[in-house]
Amino acid sequence: MPETPGNGGQPTERHETLDAEQRVPTEQDLDTLSRQLGRPVRDVVEIGARCVCGNPLVATTAPRLSSGIPFPTTFYLSHPVITSAVSRLEAAGLMAEMSERLEGDEQLAAAYRAAHEDYLAARDAIGARTGVGEVPEIAGVSAGGMPSRVKCLHVLVGHSLAAGPGVNPLGDEAIAGIAEWWTADRCYCGGAWPTTGEAPNRDRSRHVKTQEQQDVEAKKRDRAEARRRRAEQEQEDSGAE
Ligand SMILES: [Zn+2]
Repeated sequence: MPETPGNGGQPTERHETLDAEQRVPTEQDLDTLSRQLGRPVRDVVEIGARCVCGNPLVATTAPRLSSGIPFPTTFYLSHPVITSAVSRLEAAGLMAEMSERLEGDEQLAAAYRAAHEDYLAARDAIGARTGVGEVPEIAGVSAGGMPSRVKCLHVLVGHSLAAGPGVNPLGDEAIAGIAEWWTADRCYCGGAWPTTGEAPNRDRSRHVKTQEQQDVEAKKRDRAEARRRRAEQEQEDSGAE
């Protein structure tokens, strides 16, 4: 059983599985994420959780996308073995069952509300350390149905993996529920996503270029081209003398 941290009236303490260094996404991580998801990843600012082998399990997205759009879903479950296992739980009706239990079990409901608070605190911290800052549009809004319902188990599992056991009771429960397909102590990466060929990702930069940036770059290219022409012209001129 995961250990449940005491929350004796203390301000919400943030929980993170990975330390600062481990959270930094490498080029290889972004490549792997794109392969895991089968699409280019954008705006991934950190890795929320890793397989024992080091591969990403959870992609962490900034609370505001580089396009400016507020983005409440911070932890995105990326590992195909886990996502499909969690989908099986969803298909089996676990979300409705959990939502029902939340209505009847005050202790569970309180722990789930605390998970919601942890999610918000984690997201604020990520916004702060990635320079995104506060995102008032989504203040108090978490994800996955928190704080009172269960609408997406993938979100809860993503949170549990990023925060570690004992923070999100229903995420932890879902992780326990997929034990026949995935457990944290083993690597399930082999064959889980295509590793040959080009990753479905051309632009790995966090910052999708805005129109303004594209204009600036076009001007830079024009100026460089003009300089090159002038230099060529000068060479021709001096050669003709
Ligand atoms: Zn692995």
